[in-house]
Amino acid sequence: MSGIDMTSWLKNLAACEACPLRHEGNRGPTRYSGDPSSPLMFVGEGPGGVEDEYGVPLVGPSGQLLDKALWSVGLTRDHVYVTNIVKCRPHNNRTPTLEEGKRCANIHLVRELELVQPKVIVCLGKVAFQYFYGRTASIMRNRGKWFDYQGIPVMPTYHPAFLLRQTGQELVESKWQVYYDFKAAVDKAKEAAPDYIYKSAEKPNLLAQYEDLRNSRHF
Ligand code: SF4
Repeated sequence: MSGIDMTSWLKNLAACEACPLRHEGNRGPTRYSGDPSSPLMFVGEGPGGVEDEYGVPLVGPSGQLLDKALWSVGLTRDHVYVTNIVKCRPHNNRTPTLEEGKRCANIHLVRELELVQPKVIVCLGKVAFQYFYGRTASIMRNRGKWFDYQGIPVMPTYHPAFLLRQTGQELVESKWQVYYDFKAAVDKAKEAAPDYIYKSAEKPNLLAQYEDLRNSRHF
């Protein structure tokens, strides 16, 4: 344990200039969304344009799809912890490299893991999965299977952005796969933390919730 608290970590994060990504034309590091006391941590790749604007992960088109998938398995965004491997938006929304992921996550995600102490981690996409399990870890081959990270069960599945690129029968199949992966994750979290409340009565409006943070972010 580092002894750091969430407020101190957020302060450190906001000031971070530890790698060249900070200077690729973004508004600075994005933080987490949701509840730091949640048993469920979802780890994505890196921020896109809407995330850079609002300062939180997965609030753009991919985030809206994530919200729908969470709702389908009895979860709302305010009752899960969502973060990214890479905190600063790469230029032109390119996918961050594994090296960029490692550099950022070894500074920040490791702190988040200490602070949140999730019971279950869901890796959304290749960058997150490969951070935990190395360059050869394949989402296509391994989604839906349980892995272990320092005693925490890890479920790899598709990133919502992948689903947004699918069409027809492939899209239908991919959506069902994500549904079953999320369902397995929430079932395992409930075994470990049965008293936690996983869902609000209505989906929260994330963009409204983070409007103040958005107004504080400038190039
Ligand atoms: S990407 Fe991560 S390590 Fe690099 S400057 Fe941003 S917060 Fe710091």
